[in-house]
Amino acid sequence: SPQPRIALADGQQIPQVGLGVWQTPNDAAVDVVRTALQHGYRHVDTAAVYGNEEGVGAGLRAAGLPRAEVFVTTKVWSEDQGFDRALRAIDASLQRLQLDAVDLCLIHWPAPHRGLFVDTWKALVRAREEGRVRSIGVSNFEVEHLDRIVGETGVLPVLNQVELHPRFQQRRLREAHAERGIRTESWSPLGQGQLLSDPAIVRVAAIHRRTPAQVIIRWHVESGLIVIPKSVTPSRIRENLDVFGFTLDAEDLAAMAALDDPGGRIGPDPMRAR
Ligand code: NAD
Repeated sequence: SPQPRIALADGQQIPQVGLGVWQTPNDAAVDVVRTALQHGYRHVDTAAVYGNEEGVGAGLRAAGLPRAEVFVTTKVWSEDQGFDRALRAIDASLQRLQLDAVDLCLIHWPAPHRGLFVDTWKALVRAREEGRVRSIGVSNFEVEHLDRIVGETGVLPVLNQVELHPRFQQRRLREAHAERGIRTESWSPLGQGQLLSDPAIVRVAAIHRRTPAQVIIRWHVESGLIVIPKSVTPSRIRENLDVFGFTLDAEDLAAMAALDDPGGRIGPDPMRAR
């Protein structure tokens, strides 16, 4: 497939633009995933807690692509943290997806008050050794959580999937990732749709005769981020991958840089969440 892939520290590669399926109902996920794959997507981001792994798996099979061409990510939910529970949760995810292995498995949230993310990380390391997951990473980790798991196991997460969009650009965390060789993946890359009517974004989109969604996804791509926009609408699914025929110039990038806001977080604070 034509879109770029990003090299991970463990030698694997991930397609830079993927399809997010949070809040996509299980029975809708079949058609959504099949449609996305037919339109050129090669990367799907799900999670046990999304309740749609069966539908995602059915969509993968319906598209009929060779397994090696599609990159599938799932995540271990906070209630399944701990060594044994996490291993069982990964098995259950594979069972629902009807896959022998996922390409990437993440710890969904550090949930630091549970005190289990190091044991959970050890389970992901084990699952990788057993061939049930090809790459392992984390989500919503702060620098102290990253350094804790690497310090205790010597195993680097290939990426950290965090809330990231023009209104919440995570510059400090991205720098810490770069220093450590960890890739950054953007969740809610469109700010859950809230950024699509931002006047600065709308202006840049008009200049390029592109949509606001395309301008924002292009910004993630040019920023070297892995990006997983969500839509269930076929025309939008297609639009969101069609971001390789234009580039943002210095003026566009300056306008978008100025949108960063320390209070721009939409989702939960990882230090306190669940
Ligand atoms: P998003 O930023 O991708 O926005 C999705 C919404 O934007 C859609 O529901 C739709 O309303 C709108 N939209 C999308 N494309 C559009 C288009 N072309 N034109 C007009 N409107 C459009 O929001 P998200 O779903 O929160 O994030 C994307 C993915 O990130 C999720 O599906 C999930 O896979 C992942 N995620 C992970 C975590 C985590 O904790 N790891 C948390 C949230 C989301």
